[in-house]
Formats: sequence, structure tokens, C-alpha cells
Amino acid sequence: MRRCVGVARKAIGCTSPNPMVGCVIVRDGKIIGEGFHPKAGQPHAEVFALRDAGDLAENGIAYVSLEPCNHYGRTPPCTEALIKSKVKKVVVGMVDPNPIVASAGVKRLQDAGIEVIVGVEEELCKKLNEAYIHQMLTGKPFVTLRYSLSLGGNLLNQLGENAMERGGYYSKLLQEYDAVILSSTALANKLVFPVSSELGANQPLTIVLSKSANSLIQIPDLTTDAASKVIIITEKELGNGQEGVQRTLSDKMTLAEILEHCKRKGLCSVLLDLMGDYVDFEDILKEGFDKDLFQKVVVEVLPIWDGSAVKTLSFANMKTRVKNLTSRISGGSLIVEGYFC
Ligand SMILES: [Zn+2]
Repeated sequence: MRRCVGVARKAIGCTSPNPMVGCVIVRDGKIIGEGFHPKAGQPHAEVFALRDAGDLAENGIAYVSLEPCNHYGRTPPCTEALIKSKVKKVVVGMVDPNPIVASAGVKRLQDAGIEVIVGVEEELCKKLNEAYIHQMLTGKPFVTLRYSLSLGGNLLNQLGENAMERGGYYSKLLQEYDAVILSSTALANKLVFPVSSELGANQPLTIVLSKSANSLIQIPDLTTDAASKVIIITEKELGNGQEGVQRTLSDKMTLAEILEHCKRKGLCSVLLDLMGDYVDFEDILKEGFDKDLFQKVVVEVLPIWDGSAVKTLSFANMKTRVKNLTSRISGGSLIVEGYFC
């Protein structure tokens, strides 16, 4: 099952609104086939794994990180493909929270006389698709807050060394998330440009908040392709924009509206990056906490001691607990992750 998750992750950032799924077929203790779901509209993991195994799948065991589907969507149901392949057993990581699957896949396989085991490495499988599961259960995209802090406790407008390079934690975050919300000053001042350096990464939609801007920002070194994935939200007409960049004029765009827009585009996960002018974020941060729109937090603590208090996240009387904290070192910084309760 751990291998299924590893194989599934080859499609990281590419499957929304579908989940990432991996499947491994085993016979006589040997892996004879494996596959993953590459993209919405393309065949599911089970189909690729069964194709890979061919006739050898008969009497084998299929391991799959998410319950096989039992409905005709854009592709035929995987339950039928598994039954036809004559595997004797199917091991499922977790049931699908999608109400049109919800254990119907397991039941179909059992009715066909196949032994089914559910809940193997379940936590790992859930973590793989935390955004998909959240969207299925709540109807809203999964939102992660990210910011940088100095060891002195101040909010920083910078990333650590190598964070944007291939394998860097920020480059990987951009590969994983479907959209990123930034302040226009973060782009205009070249603090960051949200392009993942991972090989073959599907780049996120960039949503730019420009409340603090006095003129329409010009994003340096923007290619036509990258421009098509940028939306600038402005409160006032700020003159001519950059070619290819979409602009949405709104006097007060709420976070809920931004998330609704993302959902309509089939985007499941959104990174709210607190880099740039804090003024741009004040309203949507307040709204996000008031309406429980934030699920996860990623904090980079840089090895910098600065005494001057720049900006801190201050919310009077607010106390939200964070659970399942983890930490790791990446590029000389400490990366802390957790989930809002
Ligand atoms: Zn399927």
C-alpha cells in the first residue's frame, strides 16, 4: 500500500478535481503490474495496473490506495475491470468519501466473490488526498496558510535558501497546490514568483490581491503561458495591464468568493501565501478564521535573528488550536506544519 501511495504521487498536482490514486498488482509475492491516475478524464490507476499485469493478474492481489469506483463517469467502472481480470483479492487503503462511490465499489467486488480488505495504511492514504477529501466532505477547497518567520518572531517577506529550487519545500508546495493567493507586492518586488521548479510540474493558478497597489503591477519575466494562469483582483481600474493576464474588478472580493471561483474551475487546494504587503491580507485572514476556511498551516522559520518588529499576525482574543504538528529542516530553515482544529 505504501508503494501504491508512492506511485500515486507521480501525478502530484495534476489530478484535481479527482484524487491521486495508485494501484499495484501482486502475484506469488511479486509485483506484476502498477499504475496511477495521471489526470482527470484519463483512465484510473486500476486500469493502468491491470494493463501492465496482463493475463498474470488472474488469481493475483490488487492493492489500491482508494476504493475502486463503481460508476460510469468519464471512464468505465474499475470494479468491472478488476472482476474481469479475475484477481482473487482486493486490498483497499480507504473508502472513497465521494457519495457516488461510498462503499458501493467494495460491495460490488464482494458480490462478485472477491475478498476485499479495507483500511490498510489508511492514515497515509488519507494524507495523500487531504484536499480531495476535504472538498468532498465540505464542498469547499482545502486552504493552507503559509508564511515565513524569523527566529526573532517577526513575519518575513522572504523565503529561505533553495526553497524555490527543485526539491525545495516551496517549489514542492507549488507543485502540490492547484492555486496560490499572493499580494501584488510579492510579485512586483520579485519577492517570489509562484512557479514550481519540479520536473513536469503543473503550475498553480496565481490569484493576485492588489489592494495595496497604486498602479497595476507588472510581473517581471512573464511568459504568455504563465500569464494565462494569473488572475489579478483589483478594487479600482489601474490602467493597462499585462498581456494575457486576466483581471477581475471587484470592490470587495471575499475569500469565500475566491474559493467558489476555484471550485468552479475544478481546483481543490489553495495556498494562501502571506508574502508582500500585509494590508492585502487583513480582510481575508479575518474572514478565513471567522468562517473556518483554513485547514492547514505551513510556517518557514528562517535562521535569521532580527530585532525589529515588522508585522506580526495579530488577532485579538483569537485562540485556534493546531493539531498534528510536524517539523523538518529544509534548506537551512525549519518547516513546521499543522492542521487547524
Ligand atoms: Zn475507477
